[in-house]
Amino acid sequence: MAIFNRYRSKTFIHLYVIKFKSTMRHLLLITLLLLFRSVAAQDEAELLKHFHSITSEEVFGYAKTLSEPEFDGRLAGSPGYTKAAHWVAHHLEQWNIKPAYGESYFREFPQDYTVVKSVGSFTAQLIDKKGNSIRKRYSFPEHYYPGSNSANGKVEGELVYVGYGITAPEHRYDDYKNIDVKGKIVMLESGHPKPEHATEWKHWEAFAGSSAKLENAQKHGAIGVLYISKIASPGIKYREGLVYCHIDKTVTEEFFFANNLDYKTIKEALEEKNKPQSIAFKHSIMLEAETEYLPEGTYSNVIGIIPGSDPNLKHEVIMVGAHLDGQGNLGELFPGALDNASGVADIMAAARALSLLPAPKRTIAFFFIGAEEKGLLGALEYAKDPLFTKEKTVCYINLDMVGNGTGLYLGGGESFPDIYKHFEEANGNYIHRSLKTNYLNRAYTGRPRTDGMALSQEGFRALSVHCTDRVKKLYYHNPLDTPETLVPEIMEDVSKWLYLSLYSLANATEIDLNEVMKPE
Ligand SMILES: [Zn+2]
Repeated sequence: MAIFNRYRSKTFIHLYVIKFKSTMRHLLLITLLLLFRSVAAQDEAELLKHFHSITSEEVFGYAKTLSEPEFDGRLAGSPGYTKAAHWVAHHLEQWNIKPAYGESYFREFPQDYTVVKSVGSFTAQLIDKKGNSIRKRYSFPEHYYPGSNSANGKVEGELVYVGYGITAPEHRYDDYKNIDVKGKIVMLESGHPKPEHATEWKHWEAFAGSSAKLENAQKHGAIGVLYISKIASPGIKYREGLVYCHIDKTVTEEFFFANNLDYKTIKEALEEKNKPQSIAFKHSIMLEAETEYLPEGTYSNVIGIIPGSDPNLKHEVIMVGAHLDGQGNLGELFPGALDNASGVADIMAAARALSLLPAPKRTIAFFFIGAEEKGLLGALEYAKDPLFTKEKTVCYINLDMVGNGTGLYLGGGESFPDIYKHFEEANGNYIHRSLKTNYLNRAYTGRPRTDGMALSQEGFRALSVHCTDRVKKLYYHNPLDTPETLVPEIMEDVSKWLYLSLYSLANATEIDLNEVMKPE
């Protein structure tokens, strides 16, 4: 018993000590947990405070301002673009977001451009099959847009339809074969004949671009061009002496109809037979453009950064970007509200809110890109001399036309699940919109159409944000692309979503950057 007692008492003391130790441990654990929870709660409170500071008024306000006449449609090369670039940089500075290039937010590049002083005029003298003549004056913007880089002056000549307007001896294809266009005005289509085997755009790259088509028309002696594609297109190169405009398909139909021909039949033959369907008309066309070509312009890429705080991870960057340039002013303002003041505005509000949080582990860069509309030039310049290498760039998130719809879409998410999960979580926890994604298509061989695609082809991990379920009418490269076509509520949510996802991604201890290819 004594032994037992002794044993018991010893055990009792031992147990008591264990119990005491365990209680202390528990207490410590609880204190730590409470402390951690209160820190976490504080962190979350702070995160949410700035989250709620992003409002639809703020985001819509930026887009509205950028769409105003003072920025003149933000044509790369023009003073309107430069003004917009400085306006964005001024905001970054106010928010204490650091310049990416030492003291400067800007990387400047040369960029020629054309001032279009008026919408010009477009008139046709239509001759019907009985020889009757009808004079018709067409109107902007219903029937035509002046060319963004048309030569100045007035041209008059007979009309010739030249299909795609392509001369490609290596493909044994010539829309100008056996047809005289000297001193005449040609009407041509976008696109190119279907390649025999793969749908490889590359084979037709040298011939199918708008600039190549205009060059070819001039080489054959044409003095003017009617481009059947009513979309403002600042990327077409200026050609001295060549006046051109973009026309609506209904105008083309009218020209064919007056000549007792059916445009649809001819177009189908062009597409299906892969053979030229060129036709000389008796109609004569008068085209007038009031422009001034300025070869000496410049544009800038604008980049601001929130430097990372972790000694190792700060050398990695999360990049988010949107093109800041637009179609400019073609005698009438092209405000470019959705394309792409919306993307710029979404990023600006997220940047402002992110600047209020403690510095994240990784660096976050906000990239406002120039000359996208000139052919993705700003993105390609960036790729030549990037701020962070491809390897150190965790990802580039592109926003182009993100301001009309009710759902969210992050293109490329399936290829980068460890990046995508941050966006998925942020949406699931706080945004609650429908969210979809897909695989990044690196096998895509067509002409890249966005900065995201351009950077992806240059080897960056690029994902792109879109909206789904459009609720307002889309006016693409159109003077009606005004702030009224934007949906402020989705812009607010996109901005909030970026704010949460970028911060979470920038603070992740590890990110698996292996790219998952699309299953066959
Ligand atoms: Zn765009």
